[in-house]
Amino acid sequence: MDSDCLFCKIVAGGIPVRRVYEDELCLCFADINPQAPTHLLLISKRHIVSLAQAVPEHAPLLGHLLAKAAEIARTSKLDRGYRVVVNTGADGGQTVDHLHLHLLGGRPMGWPPG
Ligand code: 5GP
Ligand code: ZN
Repeated sequence: MDSDCLFCKIVAGGIPVRRVYEDELCLCFADINPQAPTHLLLISKRHIVSLAQAVPEHAPLLGHLLAKAAEIARTSKLDRGYRVVVNTGADGGQTVDHLHLHLLGGRPMGWPPG
């Protein structure tokens, strides 16, 4: 846990969020500023700054996050499709330096992303 990190504080329960799913490795909650009818964040409970810091040791956690994103998409009825986004670093548009996946759905997505 990084005591200065917003998402670590959310994991610790210090900041209220609408929790959608939780297990020992990850937490899923509604984004405060939704960009689509469904906009969830799926975060690692362990503080990892970004995908750029990922190493082979993180592979089980990364696989778990992707598999859970698919499971949560199914329970969220995103049958028409959805987008999973991992903004990484400054040019990637990352604003919270704690590894997270965005799960966006409920409308058609444009390509290329902005
Ligand atoms: P990033 O820009 O790093 O890829 O994504 C960070 C996301 O966290 C943004 O979509 C932003 O709306 C969301 N966010 C920032 N602060 C909070 C908060 O306090 N609560 C919730 N639920 N989401 C937050
Ligand atoms: Zn953190």
